[in-house]
Amino acid sequence: MYRKHFIYDSRKVYIGVNRFLHGVNMTVKVAINGYGTIGKRVADAVTAQDDMEIVGVVKRRPTFEAKDAVRNGFKFYAAGDEFIGAFDAEGIKTEGTLNDLLDIADIVMDCTPKKAGYMDLYKQKGVKGIWQGGEKHELTGLSFNSFSNYEDAIGADFARVVSCNTTGLCRTLWPLDNKWGIDNVLGVMIRRGADPWDSKKGPINAIEPVLKVPSHHGPDVMTVMKGLNIQTTAVAVPSTLMHLHSVIVKLKQNIPTEDVIDLWDKTSRIIFVEGKEGIKSTAQIMEQAKDSGRKRGDLFEIAVWKDGVHVVGDTLYYYQAIHQESDVIPENIDCIRAMCNVETDKWVSIEKTNKALNVR
Ligand code: NAD
Repeated sequence: MYRKHFIYDSRKVYIGVNRFLHGVNMTVKVAINGYGTIGKRVADAVTAQDDMEIVGVVKRRPTFEAKDAVRNGFKFYAAGDEFIGAFDAEGIKTEGTLNDLLDIADIVMDCTPKKAGYMDLYKQKGVKGIWQGGEKHELTGLSFNSFSNYEDAIGADFARVVSCNTTGLCRTLWPLDNKWGIDNVLGVMIRRGADPWDSKKGPINAIEPVLKVPSHHGPDVMTVMKGLNIQTTAVAVPSTLMHLHSVIVKLKQNIPTEDVIDLWDKTSRIIFVEGKEGIKSTAQIMEQAKDSGRKRGDLFEIAVWKDGVHVVGDTLYYYQAIHQESDVIPENIDCIRAMCNVETDKWVSIEKTNKALNVR
C-alpha cells in the first residue's frame, strides 16, 4: 500500500519537476488504451503536439485498425497476454502488454468502450488516466471541458472528458454564461443513430425518442458548468454524420442577435455555417469538412447556423451540429496538459492545441 502511493505521488512530482527543470523539451508520455474511433484520433492529435508523445497503443483484436496503428508508426501492445497469439497469427508485432506500457507512460487515455473497468489497474501502476464521455462522472469524480473547468483538472490523477454532445453544448453555452449570464437552457438533442463505420446499431428507418426525461445530457453539462439550469430531451435518428441540437437559452439580459453572433465569432472551436450559402443540413457541413482536407474529414469545431441564431427579448434560439467522432479531441489534449502540470493557463493550452490541430 505504502509503495503504491509512493510510486503514484512520485510520478506526479516527476512530471511537474522535470517540466520545470527542462522546460518545453520534456514531453509527456501518453499511452492509448483502445484504438478505435476516439483512440486513433487522440493518438494523432497527441502526435501533432510538441509537448507530448505517444509511447504505445493498445488493442484486443487484430483488426484493420491494429494494422493501421503499426503502419502509422505507433508501438503496439496487446491488452493482455491472452491476446498476443491472435496478433502473432496476423503478423502484428507487439512490444508487450498493457501492463508493460503502463510502466513507461505518464498518462493513459482510456478510449475503450464504457465500463471496460481499468481504473484499479491504472491506480496499481501509478499512472494518471483520462476516460471518455461514455463513462459516468462518478468513475473519476472529475469531468472536464476546456472552456468550463480547465483549472479543476490541474494536477489531477483521473478525469473524464465529457461526451461529444456535452462538449458541443459547453462550447456555445459557456461564452454566453461567462459574458451575460444564463437563466435557463432547454435543448433537444437529435442524435445520430451510429457512427459511419458501425453497421450494427440503428435505428435505420425510424425516429426513436429517449423516454427518460430529462435526458442525461443536461445533468452532464452541469458536471462541468456547475450551477447552470439546463434541461434536455433526446431523439435518435437514422443518420450517421452528426448530432444536431436545437437550443433555447433564457439569458439574464436582453441581448441583440448580432452581439451573440459577434461573441461566438470571437470564440475559438465554434464555426458559423449559413443556409444561404447552401449549407442547409449536416450533409453539407460534413462535405465542407471533407473538402477542408483535414484527416478523416473531421470537424473539431461546433458548427452553428448563423442564419438560425435569433434572439427575441431575452430568449436566444439556435441550432448547432456536432461531429461526434472528433469534437472532443482538442479537449483531450488540453486535459493532458492540465493534469500533467504542463500548462496552468487554459487559454494558452487552448491556443496551443488549436494551432497544432489547425482548429479554427
Ligand atoms: P470504439 O468501439 O470505436 O473503439 C473502442 C476500442 O477499444 C476498439 O479498438 C476496441 O477494440 C477496443 N477495446 C474494446 N474493449 C477493450 C478492452 N477491454 N480493452 C482494451 N481495448 C478494448 O469506441 P469509441 O467510439 O472510440 O468509444 C470510446 C469511448 O469514447 C466511449 O466512452 C464512448 O462513449 C466515447 N465517445 C465516443 C464518441 C463517438 O461518437 N464514437 C464520441 C465521444 C465519446
